[in-house]
Amino acid sequence: MNEIETDFLILGSGIAGLSLAIKLSKLGTVALVSKREFLEGSTLHAQGGIAAVMSPEDSFERHIQDTLKAGAGLCREDIVRDVVEEGPTRVKELIDWGMAFTKGARDEDSAYELGLEGGHSRRRVLHAGDYTGSEIAKTLLKKAQSCSNIQFFDYHIAVDLITTEELDAPPPFTCLGAYVLDIRAEKVRTFLGRRATFLATGGAGKVYLYTTNPDVSSGDGIAMAYRAGAIISNMEFVQFHPTCLYHPDAKSFLISEALRGEGGILKLKDGTPFMDAYHPDKELAPRDIVARAIDNELKKSGDPFVYLDIRHKGAEFIKNRFPHIYQECLRFGIDITKDMIPVVPAAHYFCGGVQTDDVGRTSIEGLWAIGEVACTGLHGANRLASNSLLEGLVFAHRAYETLRTEGRGLRTESKNAAANSVLSTQSSKLPAVPPWNPGKARNSDEQVVISQNWNEVRQLMWNYVGIVRSNKRLDRAYRRIELLQQEIHEYYWDFLITPDLIELRNIATVAELVVESAMMRKESRGLHFNLDHPELEPQWQKDTILQREPSPYPLPSGRGPTPVGLPPSGGRWPKAG
Ligand SMILES: Cc1cc2nc3c(=O)[nH]c(=O)nc-3n(C[C@H](O)[C@H](O)[C@H](O)COP(=O)(O)OP(=O)(O)OC[C@H]3O[C@@H](n4cnc5c(N)ncnc54)[C@H](O)[C@@H]3O)c2cc1C
Repeated sequence: MNEIETDFLILGSGIAGLSLAIKLSKLGTVALVSKREFLEGSTLHAQGGIAAVMSPEDSFERHIQDTLKAGAGLCREDIVRDVVEEGPTRVKELIDWGMAFTKGARDEDSAYELGLEGGHSRRRVLHAGDYTGSEIAKTLLKKAQSCSNIQFFDYHIAVDLITTEELDAPPPFTCLGAYVLDIRAEKVRTFLGRRATFLATGGAGKVYLYTTNPDVSSGDGIAMAYRAGAIISNMEFVQFHPTCLYHPDAKSFLISEALRGEGGILKLKDGTPFMDAYHPDKELAPRDIVARAIDNELKKSGDPFVYLDIRHKGAEFIKNRFPHIYQECLRFGIDITKDMIPVVPAAHYFCGGVQTDDVGRTSIEGLWAIGEVACTGLHGANRLASNSLLEGLVFAHRAYETLRTEGRGLRTESKNAAANSVLSTQSSKLPAVPPWNPGKARNSDEQVVISQNWNEVRQLMWNYVGIVRSNKRLDRAYRRIELLQQEIHEYYWDFLITPDLIELRNIATVAELVVESAMMRKESRGLHFNLDHPELEPQWQKDTILQREPSPYPLPSGRGPTPVGLPPSGGRWPKAG
């Protein structure tokens, strides 16, 4: 018997999952599944804000051009236009739902204070102090909790997607739902989405040793989609934030760019400034250049961090201008009015992910991907700051509109005859799906294997597949990740699953996808920089596509040909059961 059947199954409760749930609850029942507290996720931690054209001094065309420029030739222009032009409407909707953006006197023509961020040619970033993400997340959760059609499942972690492959149907497969571990009950439950299953599981910063991302960002959605056979693209484009606080207890605290904007100087351990060797704008060079410069100095010296020094601005100025950073650093014993701040660059945002069309559908029928988990074509090879929250809102709306206007939903519209023979098209009933079978798995008595491999994956990604790559480093990473994958794979099938094991398996899969994608791209573009291929090459103006082999799905047209010479990457993960 299927345990939980709903019209729409949503995995993840960040800006994407929550706004989807609010909207889809108008069309049917929704199960909202989240692996920790509902608020936890990158959305909660977003500081800067959300980009939208809100001032008469700005224009859609400017926002579009800024986004395309950042994307270094890989954005889909139609998607950029759609998202930018829909931005103000989605922001107004968020305000109608109760979101209080900071109002300001700074922009005479706009009711809201609009921030200026790197790469934006106009002020267009709406924010709520420097707590924007947290305000958005709370607003959306409150709104979702007022919708009667939504069932909430926190502390439930999705393990794997369920497709018609489980029912021995021939490919192409249709997604039916997911196996989900109820963390409190320590039991895997079967969740099925009658009309659609949504991945809204966010990014994958935890693949790297240093990250600004919260613990939940372990790339689960990307890994699950890959195992199910979905097309994954552009995984080599990982955005690094140049300055994250380096302290063993401060997992992911960002030291805002504004600190450099106000005169903060980057220094080596001995106090020597180094940015003038890299860019005429020194500390105010573009983010990628600052991150690369720091990375280069760390690789040369072997030191674990560099310093950011703002002491010369005086205690009063520092405390007034950066109260949050001052207080947070003080919590870790660093008085930034007297001490230099130890900083490292940190993985911040994944531009790649599960490839979707212009409304969020993936290459697997019945499976959609919204938010950071997706690769929609908006960001191309580099994300323009503050475009990601906007992407989550816009795509949630586009998915809703598609399902609303199609009315019947995906299941009954399947062009996939094989799937239709398995699925009941007369009614909205789903076939019986085999329950999760733990097989001969037993309780692990060697947790150390998980922590050892967890650290190894993240360390090797940091050292070999970080901000600056080379063929040799990528080769090394590939060989090691293959070995780790083998070990994790054996461990996974021998022992009962736990959240840690699920996440380890997923970061290893995502790591392998990043390595493979980086090896395929024989040029440097946007966020991908390879010392052995330092130039931008016109023939590489195309997406990097990966898919489990053998591919049960046709590749989408118009997104550039699949690069040849795909390293064998798929088919190694047997389905659960
Ligand atoms: C420190 C920081 C600052 C940022 N600042 C900005 C900014 O100013 N502007 C901007 O536009 N962007 C910013 N970003 C990026 C932006 O916050 C994210 O891209 C965006 O919030 C992603 O939203 P999401 O809904 O896709 O994912 P998230 O908000 O990360 O939510 C993912 C959800 O999925 C759940 N989940 C994950 N795996 C599973 C699983 N297996 N089973 C069940 N649930 C699962 C998580 O628990 C979580 O609820 C920032 C990111 C960080 C980390």
